Amino acid sequence: MSSRGGGKLASPRFWREFPSRYNLIASECGNCGRVFLPTRMMCPKCHRDSLGKMKRTGLGGEGEVVTYTIIHTPQEGFELQVPYVMAIIKLKEGLHLTGQIVDCEPEEVDMGMKVKAVLRRISEDGAAGTIHYGYKFTPVWG
Ligand code: ZN
Repeated sequence: MSSRGGGKLASPRFWREFPSRYNLIASECGNCGRVFLPTRMMCPKCHRDSLGKMKRTGLGGEGEVVTYTIIHTPQEGFELQVPYVMAIIKLKEGLHLTGQIVDCEPEEVDMGMKVKAVLRRISEDGAAGTIHYGYKFTPVWG
């Protein structure tokens, strides 16, 4: 996302306080080093040994397409976007995420394609005018 003018908006403090769903904040187990998204209080492998050792860690958002589906029948709210691509992305950190691929034609999406998480508008609440943001994935060409 763009910062207006100075660097204040993009300060580390700003990003720390930004909700985790906007910023790909995961939990890292201080005991075994596994990374989880969404964040968790306890490592499912280490159980009690991980208590108090879960650390927050920011993910880079870079990864590649493991597999994908081209959606022709939209879910509610996505009518204007068909066809669109939903993919399983493997992040560099080893996590798998599901997300929409944007900024390219469905035919251009391929397994192994490099992608990067970006913050985009997901939906808009007509009555309240509330806009919901979340991450989508955009191709990294070349
Ligand atoms: Zn663990």
